[in-house]
Order: sequence, then structure tokens, then C-alpha cells
Amino acid sequence: MPEPIFQPLPDKPDHPGLEQEMLARWDAEETFAKLREQNRGGPTFSFVDGPVTANRMSLGVHTAWGRTLKDVFQRYKALRGFDERYQNGFDCQGLWIEVGVERSLGLNSKREIEEFGLEEFARRCREVVVQSSEALTRGSIRLGQWMDWGRDYFTFSDTNIEYIWKFLKILHGRGWLYMGHRATEWCPRCGTSLSQHELTQGGVYQERADPSLFVRFPLLDFEGQSVVVWTTTPWTLPANVAAAVHPDEEYGRRANGEWVAVKLFPEDTFVERVPGRELVGRRYRGPFDDLPPGSQVEHRVIPWEDVTMDQGTGVVHIAPGAGGEDFELSRVHDLPVLSPVDESGRFYDDYGWLHGLTTTEAADQIVGRLGETGFLVEAGLFTHAYPHCWRCDTPLIFRLSDDWFIAVDEIRPTLLDENAKVEWVPEYMGKRMDDWLRNIGDWNISRRRYYGLPLPFYPCSCGHLNIVGSRAELEERALGGLEQLEELRRPWIDRVPIRCESCGEPVERIPEVGDVWLDAGIVPFATLGWENPQWVEEGYATGAARGLTKADLPDHEYWEKWFPADWVSEMREQIRLWFYSQFFMSVALVGRSPYQRVLGYEKMLDEQGREMHASWGNTIPAEDAFARMGADVMRWQYCAQPPERNLLFGFGPAETIKREFLTFWNSVKFFVDYANTVGFGPSWSALNLEGGLDPLDRWLVERTHAFVRDAEGAYEGTLTVAVMRAYTEYLDDLSNWYIRRSRRRFWDGDDHAPFQTLWYAIVQTLRVMAPILPFVTDHLWRTLVLDGPESVHLAGWPEVPEPNRALLDEIAAVRRVVELGRQARSSSGIKLRQPLRRLVVEGTSLDGHLEEVADELRVKEVELGPVEAVELKVKPNLPKLGPKLGKELGAVREALAAGEFEELPDGRFRVAAHELAPDEVLVERGGREGWAVASGDGVTVALDLGLDDELVLEGEAYELIHQVNSLRKERGFELTDRIALTVPKAQRKLADRHGEWISREVLATSIDVGETLEIRKS
Ligand SMILES: [Zn+2]
Ligand SMILES: [Zn+2]
Repeated sequence: MPEPIFQPLPDKPDHPGLEQEMLARWDAEETFAKLREQNRGGPTFSFVDGPVTANRMSLGVHTAWGRTLKDVFQRYKALRGFDERYQNGFDCQGLWIEVGVERSLGLNSKREIEEFGLEEFARRCREVVVQSSEALTRGSIRLGQWMDWGRDYFTFSDTNIEYIWKFLKILHGRGWLYMGHRATEWCPRCGTSLSQHELTQGGVYQERADPSLFVRFPLLDFEGQSVVVWTTTPWTLPANVAAAVHPDEEYGRRANGEWVAVKLFPEDTFVERVPGRELVGRRYRGPFDDLPPGSQVEHRVIPWEDVTMDQGTGVVHIAPGAGGEDFELSRVHDLPVLSPVDESGRFYDDYGWLHGLTTTEAADQIVGRLGETGFLVEAGLFTHAYPHCWRCDTPLIFRLSDDWFIAVDEIRPTLLDENAKVEWVPEYMGKRMDDWLRNIGDWNISRRRYYGLPLPFYPCSCGHLNIVGSRAELEERALGGLEQLEELRRPWIDRVPIRCESCGEPVERIPEVGDVWLDAGIVPFATLGWENPQWVEEGYATGAARGLTKADLPDHEYWEKWFPADWVSEMREQIRLWFYSQFFMSVALVGRSPYQRVLGYEKMLDEQGREMHASWGNTIPAEDAFARMGADVMRWQYCAQPPERNLLFGFGPAETIKREFLTFWNSVKFFVDYANTVGFGPSWSALNLEGGLDPLDRWLVERTHAFVRDAEGAYEGTLTVAVMRAYTEYLDDLSNWYIRRSRRRFWDGDDHAPFQTLWYAIVQTLRVMAPILPFVTDHLWRTLVLDGPESVHLAGWPEVPEPNRALLDEIAAVRRVVELGRQARSSSGIKLRQPLRRLVVEGTSLDGHLEEVADELRVKEVELGPVEAVELKVKPNLPKLGPKLGKELGAVREALAAGEFEELPDGRFRVAAHELAPDEVLVERGGREGWAVASGDGVTVALDLGLDDELVLEGEAYELIHQVNSLRKERGFELTDRIALTVPKAQRKLADRHGEWISREVLATSIDVGETLEIRKS
């Protein structure tokens, strides 16, 4: 045999193996660099990467999802000639990093961190980032993500910090910064307050059983009477100062003197009933008046319109130092504020026997004590969703705290206007953002931690708040400590006092660090060089980022060019996190949204639909997925996912995808095998098909154009799922129609048109799918394209003319008839290989395609005409009709079942005052005796099932051909090998009657009769 033109393909692709090979080739050939060079100076597509937190030591399959989507659309835009930045980012500060380091060092409190030493602690935190960023980069490269690795941004760079300083100084100039004193959600383990958006992260609210206590507060001036409150946080009772009632609701006194809301105890008997307002002002004895703080409080009943009547007693225990709303009430009613616990959630020493206990430890003792002192009415357990620290999982408490806030109200209208201009995919996520922006409170930006952005606030005793807006300003105003300033970070920065610009006295920085979302939010400014007068080579690689990246600090002109981003993409959770923080900062700084279009997506679960948890053993390390399914299969799984639904990721779906991918692989292999056999070797210029095509070839070309156009629309709409759908439908046409129908022409091999056409179709498919399946498409490209661009990724997007949709519709109708014909056949139980006499088709014209249909369905003739005497059964297609009809579905279903409907032209039905489209119903037609009928979309076909000797014999011949060809494959014969065939005696008649035909089909040079079926090379 001559040297094959194309490298033969194995039966199945080894995805992981060929991916490693492609990675090595891209590396050696510098494919990505060539691509960037090719597009330099082209139109820009600006994408800004949301930074991944650099605290994990390997890429997770969750992260790989987002990274795939980012890569797919950047690759698509690159094929279309767009110049792109490809900058990857790492998030490097905040609790994620700190808590990990604390754990690894066995530290469990802020005191222990300080004893360990903040310098060393900071270095350990940086080391985590260094190692994690290396691991994440390795994983991302393996995934096939093309980024400008090595020029990443790291949010702990001094440059990033300086940009946030600048932002804060500008906001202070507008009067939006203030220090608030209030009760906020607090993590006792981390020793810091949390912001509203931190509470919205996944996993924060968890089911938890807490003590449920009914406690009586004895009224002082009404002997024997008490108000009864309900609480699930016993530790707050020592901080009680008031009891709130609804002024307009009715309260009743039980015979034992207890006052409760009547509505909540409808079964109870009351000796007296009054509206809540009459109880207001009554004084009572507090539950812990024997402890010093409580003893100084005059407890009283206050009115509160927000008291609800859905659970508890209708009397609410108020502890302003331990509850958010309670604190607000303390301002309205001038109540004392008791703050019972310190930063670590332990009772202060003036709480006597409670001193040093945590809020959980105190609970039991408090309940016991209330029992002894007669305050306890009843104790039980109550299960509810309770907030936990998003990082360390500790249940949160409310605690009084002085925090720094950014006021939101003044900018809120602009935020809403700007969000309305953003194109959100899916749309409902934009609505979520809108809701969030309408309801968000002031932004709590301070955290009492160590490894974070140092807030540049220097409040002076003279009353002036000094804010440093840049490193230069710090250096100018510093009174010392600059020589030891390694990074703009604790502890070094804390040793640099400055001079107060108002009174001239030395002032120190507050110890707080910033909310980590400031770090990521400033990225569209800090990495693009906003207001930076001069480009600085490697100017972003400052502070902790020095040595980790070669990222430049561009100049303002560059920012003008790349801001705002054309597109950003992250999971839905980021609406309240990164999408929000960068949006807020951008609208605050320049009055515009930092992005024009967003792609959000839902959560990833395991293949059974459960959350993935390391402790449940159902997480999948990306390394495993790369090794067992391959990156292309992972990417397919991510891209086939509608973004509005949770992704069920796993090895099971991967197996299905691998099988599905074989359809394409087999089509390519079919081409390669036959092209090698006949010596067909196309040139790249043959991509321009000209003349000499059969109608079927012409159709495949048009069908390919339609696929390219459909995929293009889907990519432009940033919906990979629509690309995947278009691909699946196209492949079905390619393999189950074009190749099926053309097999004979490939066999014969003397006409090159089908080779040309199939090569064209495959090559265009590779170009369309390259962004989603970058490895296998490039592998096949290099197999099939002998003299064109060296990589599919350098070949550009296929430019195709508008397809001939009329022709495509025509063939789609033919395929529908064939599909119905197959249904009818399978319902009859007659084998596919058995030829039949006749098919009758009603409802479509099949212009010029009668012969094809006859051939496909193996019938002697196809007739157009009415299908007679059929029994019609119509059922609702529930997935379509359910959502459309809602509660009217029942009526429609009943009417259909009772046969009360009218058949309209084009396959529509009128029933119960509704008109139903062909795809909204399932139609079954029973045929006359001896006929099999199927119908759908307004078309009905009837298959004549009558057999005669001639048809039966022909069926046997087909069966024999099939057996022999299977045997050829089994024995590993080449496609061109000729054989000598022996058939069993029983089939002598077949050999006599159809010998010539059979020989042709199985490449037999002779047919003998013997004992069993046998073949050998001749
Ligand atoms: Zn915590
Ligand atoms: Zn001062």
C-alpha cells in the first residue's frame, strides 16, 4: 500500500494522551504567542478576569467551569481577529488566606497570632499565595486556558493597595466615609465583624438547633404579674434592658399573671385583655439584675411596631448590645446598651460568674440559673437557619462594634441607572443585581484582622480624620519608620506615624484592614492604569507581588482603551460580591459600570445533585478529571450546561459525552480511511468549493453554513449551551444523513466530490468547535489540514455566506418523514433490513425526494396521499404544555382523552378553547389492519406491512450482507480486501438469486455453498 495521505486514526480518541501531546506542541510552536501577534492591532475585546482566591493547592472542578467559559469566549473572539489582554488575576488577602495559615500553624485566636509575630505571619500568608498561584496556573494550563501567564495581577501588590487608598480618599472628599457604632454580625473566632455581602455567600445560613426559652420578667408595680418573652440566644439575656410589645395588638393575662399576645395563644384563657400600648412603660425586674451591669438598668416595656405575631409570645426581649434591630431601638427609646462579650465572644469580667465563658458555654448555665431563680417558664430546642462565618464556620453573634462604612444612599440612583445599561445573561441575574442595589445598606469596609489592605485612616485627637491617598503621600507625611516598610501592609505600615494635617500632632493608623472585596473591586482601575501618567514596566509587581509577576502598570491612555470591559463572567454568587464591589467602585470613581455584558451561572453539584463536600467524599480534584476524562470532556460538560441551572458534574456524564463525541470522531475516521484508500488529498485552497457537486453535497455545504451561522449567533450571545445544541443537531445531519446517504459514493471512490464535501464540513466544524474543544479539534486539524494554517487556533473563524434555508427546510422535512417511517416500522416489529412494498405519506410534498425516502426506509415505492381510516389519539406534550397552560392543563387533558378536539391543518389541534401547536401534542394514529402508522408535526406516514416471497428473500439477502460485513470487521480485513465467500446450504437460493448483488456489497470474488458461513481473503 502507498503511504497514507492522512495519519490513520484509532477507533477511539485517548483524550488525556492527545491533550498532553497538544500542550507540548503549543508550547514548542508558541501557538498562543502567534495568535496574539496575529491579532495585535485588531479591534479590542476587553475581558477582565475575576480573581480566584489563591489559597488552594490545586485547581477545583468548580473553578475549572468558570475558567472554561472565560477561555471559550476569549478563544472565539481571537478567531474573529480581536486583540485581547488575557490577564489572569489572583486574590491574595483576607480571611480565606489567614484562616488557612492559622490552621496550619495551629493558632486559634488573634492573641496567638500576635504572639506568633505579625511579620512571620504575613510572610506565611504570602507563601500560601505563591504556592497556590503556581498550582492554579498549572491546573489552568492543563485545562487549556490561554492566558498571559506570568503577567497576572495579584491583589496584594502595593499598587493595588494604593489604588484603593486613592479610592477611599476620593470618597472621603465627598463625605461618604464614616465610622459607625452599632451592633453587627460578628465572628467570635475570627474576631471581626462581617459585612452584609459576606452574609450572602453560599453556606452561611445553616440549619442549627438552639435552646428555645420562654422567660418571664416580673412586673415591679403589678404584684404577681409578668411579661413572657421568647428567645433562642440565652447568652443575650444578661444584656436585656427592655421588652417590646406591639402597641396595637391585644395582650392577655393568664390566671398565673403571665402576659402574652392573645393571637399567639388562641386556646388560652385570659383573665384580662388590653392593647399592647397599655403595657408600655411598665417596669420589670431583669433576669440578671444580680450581676453588676443588669443591676444598673431600669427595665421597662417599650412599643415596637415590628413585633410580629408569627412565633414566640408577642413580647420581644431587647438587648441593644447583642442585636441589630435592638440597637436601633435603643436610639429611639434612649435605652442603655450593655455589651456583654469581648472580641472573641467571651463574657467581660463584670458579668461575674459568666466571666470568660463563650456564648455557647454560657447557654447551659444561664438556663440552669433561670430555673433556680424562677424566671424560666419553659426550655426546649428550636431548629432554624442560623448564620455562620463564611470562612471558619463558627456561628455568628451580634456584637457592638465601631466599624468604618461607605454611605450608599447618595450614589444609589446612579448605581441603579448604570445597572440597567448592563446586559445580563441570564437576564434574571440583572434583576437580582437591581434588587441588591435597591436594598443594600452602607458598606462595612473594616475588618479587625491582619493580612489585608491596611485602611489608610489616621484619626487625630483634634477631631480631624487624615486619609493617606498614595505611597508618595505617606512618604511625605511620615514621621519615621519608612526604612522598615517592606510592604504597604501590617505590621510594617503600623510603624509609620504621620503628622496630622490639621493640628500638626503625630497620628497613628487605625489597626483595621479592609474588606477583601475592595481588593478585587479596584481591579478595573489598578490593572489598567487609570490616571497613571506614565507607563511603568513591571509597575504592578510591587510589594508582596514583587517577583511573582511581570505585570506592567499601564498608563491612562491604556485604561481609556480597555475600560469598561466588554464582558465579565463569574458564578451567580458574585452578584453581591465581585460584580457588586467593582461596580460600586467604578460608578463611584467614574460614574459608569465597569462592564457592559455579564455571563453568570449557577452552582456545581455532583452528578446525583448533591453539594460537593470533601467530608462526603464526592468532590472531584481537577487532576483526577484531567486524567480520567480529559480536559475537552470537562469543557464539553461545562459548555453544554444552561447557565440558569445547576451543573451536575461527574464521571457518569463524562462517559456519555465520550460516547457522544464518537459520532464526530467516527465521521472523521470514516473520511480518513476512505480518503486514504482512494488517494484523495485536499489542499487548503479547496476550502472554496466549486462546481461538480451532487444535490446531497450541495445540501451538506448549506447545512454547514447554517451550523456556522447558528454557532456564531450563540457565541455572540455568550451561550455555549446553544453552540452545543447547534453542534449536536448538525452532527446528526452530517453522520446520520449525509454520510449514510453517501456511503456508496465513498466506496466507489471514483467521484471526489463527496470527499471534498465531507472534508469541507469536518474542517469547518473543527474551526467552530475549537474554542470549546481546543485539544481534539487541533489534533484533528493537524491530521486533516495538510497545507493550511498549522493550528486550528490560527485559522480564524470561517466566513460563510447566508445558507439556503429553503433547501435546508426541504431536507429537514424529508428527514422527518424518514424518522416517522422508522417509528412506524419499529412499532410493527418488522426488522429494518426487511424491504417492504409501500409507504403512504400525508401532509408534506417531498418534492423530488421520493426515491431517497424509499431507499432510506427500504420500501419499493412512496406514494403521496391521504392515509385512510386511522384512529387518532392525541395526548398533551407535558413539558411544553404544562408551563403554557398552567392550571388549565387539566381541562385540556380531559378533553383530549375524551376525543373532544378538532384537527386543524398543519398538525394543529383545537381543544377546550385552546389552539395547540404540533409540538405541543403527542399524536398516535392506529392504522388499518396490515399497516403501521406514525405521525407528528402535521405529517402522517403509513407503511404497508404485507410481505411476499420476493420481499422475504430480499430481506434475507440484506441480512447476509450485514453478517458478512460484520465478519470482515471482526477479522480485521482492510476495506479493500477481496474475499471468497462460503454460505450455508440453506442459503443456496439466496446465492442463486442475488449472488451478484451480494458479491458487490461484500467484495466477494466467489460464492460457494458449504456447511457454515465462512470468509477468507482471496
Ligand atoms: Zn470566622
Ligand atoms: Zn490633629
